[in-house]
Amino acid sequence: MTHVIDGKAIAAAMREQTARSAALLRERGVIPALAVVVPTGDESAAWYVRSIERAAGAAGIDCRIHRLPPPGGRLLIADKLAELSADPAVHGIICQSPLPEGVELAAVGSSIAVHKDVDGANPASLGILAAGLPGAFPPATAAAVMEILRREDVPLRGRRAVVVGRSTVVGKPTALLLLAEHATVTICHSRTRGLPGVCREADVLVVAAGKPEMVNASYVAPGAVVIDVGINPTRGGGVVGDADTGAIAGIAAAITPVPGGVGPVTTAQLMDHTVRAALSERC
Ligand code: NAP
Repeated sequence: MTHVIDGKAIAAAMREQTARSAALLRERGVIPALAVVVPTGDESAAWYVRSIERAAGAAGIDCRIHRLPPPGGRLLIADKLAELSADPAVHGIICQSPLPEGVELAAVGSSIAVHKDVDGANPASLGILAAGLPGAFPPATAAAVMEILRREDVPLRGRRAVVVGRSTVVGKPTALLLLAEHATVTICHSRTRGLPGVCREADVLVVAAGKPEMVNASYVAPGAVVIDVGINPTRGGGVVGDADTGAIAGIAAAITPVPGGVGPVTTAQLMDHTVRAALSERC
């Protein structure tokens, strides 16, 4: 029987903790504040930004949305991020994707002060993470994967972890965090040969490829834990993950559903990072 991990319940428990910390900060006169820079009018981004606003409101975090006028080029975005980085009333900053065509996250993310970089967009944050040093936040999705594994008591030390995807926002930082927990980590990508066989070696399989239901029974060893990061829109207006849940049911020990798995935990993680950023500034 495959256990379906309840991401919404994990997110709710995290939000409660975050709200308690935010309330303590408010009592001390600090209003934790998250600034979200939205450089395009993309519809899916608008939906996500609304969910961030709701989560922030529930956690007692002041959420300020900064919609940039089109065409929103690299300099405009970078200037806004630098301005917010210098604002003492702002504790966390996100630059919402997608970015305008031709603009790379690394190019604008480096304008976010590392201590306010709650979604790990500054390449310096990834460098600090890779060096195993404190003082930077990993991207919220990578942190969410780890939080799910921690709350589900999934052992990592000495276990085989396979991450499918090597993006700087998901795959790479997740692999680094798994390594920091002493897992033996393999990173796969579109050029990996024999992908199903490599994935079958995993005790923990994290899939972040953006390929709808790619992971079937041939990818999963009996008893593996599958964390499905993928969010792929369907024609019917819904979403599916990168794993074919039906095909691996009964093989995997546990799986995160899509929707309702990594997604809500990612949003909760952003709130947690913002309150931590406010707390560390206060200390
Ligand atoms: P991305 O930048 O497009 O990276 C995808 C990665 O998957 C790349 O490294 C790519 O390899 C690899 N890949 C693609 N097709 C593959 C295949 N057939 N076999 C093996 N590897 C393959 O995407 P991303 O931003 O990391 O996001 C990945 C997925 O997670 C997307 O569905 C996205 O919507 C979702 N996501 C979810 C959350 C959340 O909160 N739940 C947050 C962020 C992203 P190459 O490097 O060789 O091209």
